[in-house]
Amino acid sequence: MSNKVNRAQQWRLFISNFIGFTVIFVLLGVIVFVLFKRAMLTSTDQALRVERTSRLSGAPVRRRPQHQPDMTPGQMQKAAIHPFMTTTLIYSDHGKIINQAQLGSRYDMLKRITLKRSQVGELHTVRVNGKYSFRTLLVKVPKSNSDATVAGKYLLIMENIDPQKAAMANFTRVLLITMGVFWLLSILMSIWMSRLTMRPILRSWGRQTEFVGNAAHELRTPLTIIQNKLEFLLTRPNDKIIDQAESIAVANSESQRLQKLTQDLLALARSDSNTVQTNFELTDMAKFMRQTVEPYVEIAASQGKTLVLNPVTPFQATLDQALVHQLLNILIDNALKYSPQGRSITLSAKLTGRKWQLVVADQGIGVKRADRQRIFDRFYRVDSSRSRQTGGNGLGLSIAHWIVNLHHGNIVVKGNQPQGSQFVATLPVNPVGLAGHHDKTTAK
Ligand code: ADP
Repeated sequence: MSNKVNRAQQWRLFISNFIGFTVIFVLLGVIVFVLFKRAMLTSTDQALRVERTSRLSGAPVRRRPQHQPDMTPGQMQKAAIHPFMTTTLIYSDHGKIINQAQLGSRYDMLKRITLKRSQVGELHTVRVNGKYSFRTLLVKVPKSNSDATVAGKYLLIMENIDPQKAAMANFTRVLLITMGVFWLLSILMSIWMSRLTMRPILRSWGRQTEFVGNAAHELRTPLTIIQNKLEFLLTRPNDKIIDQAESIAVANSESQRLQKLTQDLLALARSDSNTVQTNFELTDMAKFMRQTVEPYVEIAASQGKTLVLNPVTPFQATLDQALVHQLLNILIDNALKYSPQGRSITLSAKLTGRKWQLVVADQGIGVKRADRQRIFDRFYRVDSSRSRQTGGNGLGLSIAHWIVNLHHGNIVVKGNQPQGSQFVATLPVNPVGLAGHHDKTTAK
């Protein structure tokens, strides 16, 4: 992916992550704030209602005298700072405060609070003198009330909420700071997450680009050879086929090579898109191995090499026969390609617990330790010129690797004694989750 596209995509991911985090933090903050505020006022409102009930029942009770002997030092201090925690204003029907004497020095401050008859039964927050905050509840006392001082009057029961307000302000500050810190952290988190998300995309994009580049290159070579040979033949219209047999043979072998290459590319493209139709079935391995290997024995012999299948102790395994056949084809083909005449290739299949192991051992040129991982990469060839001679394109082992993966197994290459290499594929007897499933499209 070009750097510009990459950066634009990463930026988009960053922005969406960041917006996501911001929305979550803001929602969280608002919910916590609202709940906290509500919880703070709930107890005050409850106290006001209790006071109303007691007033309406006729007995004037001082719910919270200012200096109770059992007050804690903290409460005493609060009471000193907030001189009136609960106060009741008694209004006459005309809206005049009539308990002025009871209010004492507080009257001057409270006289500005006017009676709003429409607010009977409602809870409100009022600010007095720009300094004190009260939660209020207006009550209309029926004339029949046994307490003559309040009968037929309006009572404004007031509860000082300055401590709550201070706590709320403190809490809001802490909440804002915390949210701010987390918001900043979310920037770092978003950068990290966008990078993390982009990494596999970039990796597979890179692999895809490399694959397409390599494929184009591989396709171009045989095509160019065929084209050259054909152009050359056109310059000799009077020649007989026998005269140009060599050119024709080369063009023919290159077109075969092209066909093999397109088949391999198609197999890998299908494996990438996870659209391979698989058919897993319970297989008698001794029989399967015998039948699959048999034709190669003759091919090996025709090349002056020996192919031996070690006796297979009977066992059964669930596998896709066509794909495992292709795997064997690749491994045997390679063993033959990279072994000189007179050498032998040994095949074995055996049960090891809940897995079975397929080994293709040859006495050929072997694979150097440094190349053992890489030979399973697409288009990787240890010796390109040799591979070209043998008709290789570096895709066989990637397909082998994919087939083994599809069976939830693994494949490795080891050295063979005294020389050559051993390809060891270990596959589960009953690939996880595949038991009894037939004709299904399977993920890679
Ligand atoms: P190719 O079509 O080139 O054989 P493969 O993917 O099958 O591609 O193999 C990749 C490379 O691994 C080969 O080019 C070769 O160098 C090496 N290789 C594969 N099999 C053997 C083997 N049996 N012995 C030695 N080298 C091998």
